Amino acid sequence: MKFYVTTAIDYVNDRPGLHHGYEKTGADALARFHRQRGVEVFFLTGTDENATKNEKAANAAGEPTRAFVDRHAAEFKELCETWNISYDRFIRTTDADHVRAVQELVRRWIANGDVYLGKYEGLYCTRCEAFYEESDLVDGRCTIHPTNADAIQRLEEENYFFRLSKYEPALKKLYRESPEFCVPEIRRNEVLGWLERGLKDVSVSRRNLKWGIPFPDHPDHTVYVWFDALINYVTGAGFGTDEARFAKWWPADVHVIGKDISRFHCIYWPAMLLSAGIALPKQVFVHGFLEYRGFRLSKSSGNMIDPIASAEEWGADAIRYLVLREAPFEKDSPVSPEQFNTRFNAELANGLGNTVQRTLAMIERYRGSVVPDSAGLGTSGARVREAAERAIADHDRAARELRSAEAIGAVVALLAAIDRHFQETKPWDLAKSADEAHALDAALYAGAEGVRLAAVLLWPYLPATAERITEQLGQPSPATGFAEQGRWGVLRPGTRITLGAPLFPRLELARAG
Ligand code: ZN
Repeated sequence: MKFYVTTAIDYVNDRPGLHHGYEKTGADALARFHRQRGVEVFFLTGTDENATKNEKAANAAGEPTRAFVDRHAAEFKELCETWNISYDRFIRTTDADHVRAVQELVRRWIANGDVYLGKYEGLYCTRCEAFYEESDLVDGRCTIHPTNADAIQRLEEENYFFRLSKYEPALKKLYRESPEFCVPEIRRNEVLGWLERGLKDVSVSRRNLKWGIPFPDHPDHTVYVWFDALINYVTGAGFGTDEARFAKWWPADVHVIGKDISRFHCIYWPAMLLSAGIALPKQVFVHGFLEYRGFRLSKSSGNMIDPIASAEEWGADAIRYLVLREAPFEKDSPVSPEQFNTRFNAELANGLGNTVQRTLAMIERYRGSVVPDSAGLGTSGARVREAAERAIADHDRAARELRSAEAIGAVVALLAAIDRHFQETKPWDLAKSADEAHALDAALYAGAEGVRLAAVLLWPYLPATAERITEQLGQPSPATGFAEQGRWGVLRPGTRITLGAPLFPRLELARAG
């Protein structure tokens, strides 16, 4: 079994934002989920470096373009390190193998008769680096950059064109036969709308740019950055450099992207691949935007929450959890430091942190730090077992479909069940009477085994925390081996546990007003 997952690659004209961490963590959690379950995973992320605007931004900063993109690419890599993003490759579109892959793909289009020289005159958003139709704009402005009045420019030049129109019937067939190609449905409906309006050929080269990948056999042209960028997904799998690796990993199982670039991924990309005789990816998952103070979080709008500072403030594990929990992947979601604080206290400090601490402290206190025998769980313990088994099923179903907020919610429900279990069984009362020794054993065992399973399920979101919990419970790392660990009854009586410091000390929040 293999699983190939990609994120979008990020423009390096500025520093990373919280939304970059969000997308990468969503893909990372999916990659970790599959790895845990014994699937061989390849997880690709990286940077999109050949955009004209990098050259412009570098010039404005008085820096050579190469040095400028190196510096910003390093910041995106730092984001990945800080947020514990377990990528297998960090691709940069200036990498030599990518240049080769792009040129090979373009040669295939040319050989297939899909490239011709034409004149392009049209509306171009310099921020998106994309051409638009008049009908795509609102009041003459780009819908993604409504506050940038000068973003839309009229551009005229001689370009190479790709015969996108030729692929309209094939794309319509694709969406008819494989509706799961683009999810969720709301995004697929947008794509169907574009297809309904008809596809025009698109310009795939730019003239007289110094920065970019040379168009094969036409050195005065460079490959239009969007077409170059999409190709990173096949480069990463080995296209053009390692055919055996490419045969192993391609097609991708899912491309995880934001809704602003679904046209490129759901229309252009499959057409580009069909023209080159390459199999299509299985799915494009289009996530929503993070919003802050009523606007989309983005670099170009200047509405930013710093992801590195956020990891410092809440902790790397916590910020991963908080963005995925607060912002369901399938829709737009408001986020704010206030929301993060509230969620942190409710679910990490109180929910998870308290439950773990309390369970381990009672085993230390009443049973000398040794997991007691579970001979008979009792009614309440049996309910914890049921809750754990339900959590595994609910979690896995949601996690597989990138519904991370819901997947985490399944574990939150399990933690609540453990809390109720202690309220009902009152181990602190049972401990007062020697006659209740068996009942106390059963109560403590059910709590500890529930906590262990919660940690195993939470590993994709809270990797460091989950490993800490399983270590405290004397268990192996939950990074792999879900088949053995992901079921009730694995925790062996007699196992020695270690009580540690609280996992998520409660935040003292200043009262507003
Ligand atoms: Zn735009």
